[in-house]
Amino acid sequence: MNKICSICETKIVGYDCNPHPFKGDVCCEACNQTIVMPVRLYQGYQSPKYALLFKANETIQTVRPKKEFFKLEDLQETLGGNVEVYITTFMSSVLVYKSNGKMKRLPKNKLFEKLSDKELPGEVLMIPVGMLNRDED
Ligand SMILES: [Zn+2]
Repeated sequence: MNKICSICETKIVGYDCNPHPFKGDVCCEACNQTIVMPVRLYQGYQSPKYALLFKANETIQTVRPKKEFFKLEDLQETLGGNVEVYITTFMSSVLVYKSNGKMKRLPKNKLFEKLSDKELPGEVLMIPVGMLNRDED
């Protein structure tokens, strides 16, 4: 019997893993290593000192601020343009995505939706609430 990875949606060869906190029953070892573990690590810290970037190609990248906190310019540089900040309590984080994403009809971020049930366009940056610098000068 072939199981399908709930993250990359391909047949699982070898061991299957628990995709939690992503939706689904099983995931493959590759997704476990590159996608599930980074999110669990992030979740495990009281206050992570970095952000997670959910890329359009369904991979995850760790992003660190240039200094102590993320500034607006860091966010714009990471996402490549004007950004929209989505205030939410999801994983004690703030979600940031490109503000013209909806107008340009960027495809929704499927990977992030599998984690959060939220439909956001393009690349999504998940920043710990305490890491966002709100006092812009
Ligand atoms: Zn997979």
